[in-house]
Parts: sequence; C-alpha cells; structure tokens
Amino acid sequence: MVTASETLLSAISKYEVVIGLEVHVQLLTATKAFCACSTKFGAPPNTNVCPVCLGLPGALPVLNKRAVEFATLAALALNCEIRETSIFARKNYFYPDLPKGYQISQYDRPIAEHGHINIKVNGESKRIGITRLHMEEDAGKSLHDGFPDSDKNTYIDLNRSGVPLVEIVSEPDMRTPDEAHEYLTRLKEIILYTGVSDCNMEEGSLRCDANISVRPWGQKEFGTKAEVKNVNSFRFIKQALEYEIERQVELIESGGKVAQETRLYNSSEGKTYSMRSKEQAHDYRYFPEPDLRPLVVDATWQSEIKKTMPELPEARRTRLVSDYGITEQDAGVLTMTRSRADQFEEAAKHSKNPKRVANLVQGELMGRLKAKGIDMEQSPISMKGVAVSADLVEANAISGKMLKDFYDIAFERGKDFPIVYAEEGSPKQSTDTGALEKIIDEAIAANPSQLAQYRGGKKTVAAFFVGQVMKASKGQFSPAVVNELVGKKLDG
Ligand code: ADP
Ligand code: ZN
Ligand code: MG
Repeated sequence: MVTASETLLSAISKYEVVIGLEVHVQLLTATKAFCACSTKFGAPPNTNVCPVCLGLPGALPVLNKRAVEFATLAALALNCEIRETSIFARKNYFYPDLPKGYQISQYDRPIAEHGHINIKVNGESKRIGITRLHMEEDAGKSLHDGFPDSDKNTYIDLNRSGVPLVEIVSEPDMRTPDEAHEYLTRLKEIILYTGVSDCNMEEGSLRCDANISVRPWGQKEFGTKAEVKNVNSFRFIKQALEYEIERQVELIESGGKVAQETRLYNSSEGKTYSMRSKEQAHDYRYFPEPDLRPLVVDATWQSEIKKTMPELPEARRTRLVSDYGITEQDAGVLTMTRSRADQFEEAAKHSKNPKRVANLVQGELMGRLKAKGIDMEQSPISMKGVAVSADLVEANAISGKMLKDFYDIAFERGKDFPIVYAEEGSPKQSTDTGALEKIIDEAIAANPSQLAQYRGGKKTVAAFFVGQVMKASKGQFSPAVVNELVGKKLDG
C-alpha cells in the first residue's frame, strides 16, 4: 500500500510546486470603510447598517481616514512602496450578500505594491515578494444553516457589508506547503504587531485563498493554477495544498490537464472539490469608482503614519538575541506576540539573569502550557513571575526542584508564581548542613558496596550518592552544596 506522504514525495521529486497566496485582512477600525456604522463583531443581524452599506439608491460613500492609515501602516510593515495617488474601483458581480451589485475595491492603481516578507524554513531564509496590497470593502454574509427552514431559505446579515479590508497578494514565490504556512505565520505576526487587525480567523478577520500549480522540474513556464478558497486555518491550508499537489501531479501523469478553476477544501475528508471553472468565472467589469475622489497619501501623511510603526518581529528577535544573550529559538518564542515580547523585556530588565528567564520559559513554562492546552497569554505564571523565580534560583534561595514544584502548584491553583510562593510560606532551600550531613551519612551507610567501589578508586560512583541524597532531601539543598559535602564524606 502506498501512503499519502509517499505519493507526495514521489510527486515533488518529478514536479516543482508553485504557490501564491491572496490574504484578506479586516482592519480594526471602529466604523466601516465608507459609512459611520459600527464594525463590531457579533451584533444582532442587520443592526449595524445604513443607506450606504445597504446600497440604497442615492447614498454616497465617505472614506474612513483611519482605514487609510491602517492600510498604509500594514503596507509599510510589509516593505511595500506606497502609491501617493491610488484609485478606488468598482468590482461588479451579482450576489445576494452584495446589495450594491459591486464591491468598492482598488484595481490597476492600488495603494501599495512591491513588498516582501522574509521567511525561514528548515534553517533556510527566503524572501517572498508581495505584489500588491489594496483596500476594499467586505460583502455581507449569507447564512445557510441553523434555521428551521434552512432547506428552503438563505438568510442575509449585512453587518459585515462595508467593513474595511486590505487584500495582500503575494508573488508566486513559494515552493512548498511549508513555505506557504511559514509565510502566513509571519504575515499574521507582522500584522498583529502593527495592531491594524486582530487577525482572528474564526471571526473571518483573516482569510486566505491559495493558488497552486505544478510544473516538471526545469520547465520555465508556470503550470495552470487552481485556486483553493475559504480555508479557515493555516494547518488546513497546508493540508489542502498537499492534497492539490498529489491531485495535479496524478492528473498530469495520467495524461490529463489541470483546469484553471476555483476549488473548495473539505477538511474532514482532506480533499478539494471544484467550485467553478474559468468559464464560469466572474467578469468583474472594473471601472473607477465615480463617487470617490482619488486617494492621496502624500509624503507628509506617510511619515506621520510611519511614526506609529512599532518595532517589528524580525527586528525585535535580532535585538533580543543581542541585548539579552538569549538564543534565536528563545527569541522566536518570546516575540510571537507583541505583548509577550513586551512582558519578557519588562521581566528581563528586572531580572539578574535574562537568559535564565528565557530558559525557564522554554524549559518549564511551554511544556506545562501545552499540557494544559493553553496559550502563553493565558498562563497563570506571568513573565514577571518567571523573572522572580529565576532570581530566587540565581541567588541559591530555592533549588531547581523547588522551582518545578512551585510551577506545578501555580498551574494547579491558576495563580502566579510569587503568589503561590508566598502562600507556601516563601520556603528557602535549606542551608542546614547538619541535616544534610545526616542524610549523606544515612545514604553511605545504606550502600556499603558502592562505598567500597568508590574507595577502591571508582570516583564516578560519587554521582550515585549525590542522586540518592538529592532524592532523600527532596531537592531542598542546592546541587552544588550536596556535591561538595558528598565528596568530603566519601573521602573522609
Ligand atoms: P488571477 O488573474 O487569476 O487573479 P493573478 O495573476 O492575479 O491571477 O494571481 C493571483 C495569485 O495567484 C497571486 O498570489 C499569484 O502569485 C498566484 N499565481 C499566479 N500564477 C500562478 C501559478 N501559475 N501558480 C501558482 N500561483 C500563481
Ligand atoms: Zn453603514
Ligand atoms: Mg488577480
């Protein structure tokens, strides 16, 4: 039997994969792109609407300045060039959730072009080009399920109609589903840092359409692409792309041709299905939007917007490595969100050993979070708590074993480290050498044959005694102290 991954491996040994992604990101403005209606998610259906976003005759759009600032900030963060004068265009198509019969978008003169994102896959860095970033409005939502008469009727919620989006179109620069996954991860991270979107995929604030084709290795022209639409997680996008590679290669190998079409991914089956062919594709009949003036974002405005740019993840990773002496891997984990990086830096500044803080995050915090199935943002132990615990270990006040126990208690009680440490009476690692000596004497008395080995010259047996003592003393004593005293006793 041939497994899926073998099929995939054999496919990519003969064919090169080409992937380009189109990502829609909803901007976090309080009001819609061309009217004053609220953009709040989850309001009762059709309550955030007005003549403009309902497309009533005679209503005129007024551009939201904040949306322009957000789009420009996102574009700059993605290394794009800003077009000083961009043009809104009507994209015409007929669909029940599009009351005007067109969507206001941008076409041949988008607000931004020629950007890129750097990605790293299997240790190799690569630059993925961004063709363009343009502004547009969202359509409404058709609701097909959840009503008693869903078999007969579709319901329309126009709260989303007119919500501002940017569409970010990549160059066909990706060569594997892993690269696509990494591109999306980095893109989302950058957008989140800028604060222009919450990128919440469940609420549709970030949506991705994936274009994919294959060509025999060495062929210059691209193969015919298929577009996979509306996949709602990065993991599913990767799976859908893997499925498409197998499907397209199998089709070509059996003498067929890949059709240019739009496909949908069924995540429970792990397969894509044809939704519409090129013949059925829309002819959008784009033309300049007559109700809006050209959008001018001049140099002065651009530089004002630039001033609101935070340090971006890539730069921050580099800086954390050099400022705190942490590893690149640590920096990667600690910069995954802006608030996490802020927290770490706040903690690291007040800690005697930022490196230990980073190590504890990787070594003690991540595993416990994973076991509990929660994100760092929901961690009972804050970065400050990690810093406090790191400093206690640093000062030999508590042992590594004690730290682990307190982390367990913190997770059990859902409380931060300093709180549970205080609740337990702020115990210190014992410096009572009398008690320690007693434990060592007992360990030596209980293991005469090991003692004989040691005295016979096998010095490595000391480690056995150290282990016995650490266990018997339940980690109350620092390993350094135990090592020293055990050595003395064995020799003496
Ligand atoms: P369309 O005219 O069908 O919208 P575009 O040229 O505008 O196609 O490209 C849309 C997206 O598809 C872009 O992200 C682009 O990088 C990608 N793309 C274009 N051609 C290919 C191809 N042959 N294989 C994979 N992706 C492609
Ligand atoms: Zn409105
Ligand atoms: Mg296109």
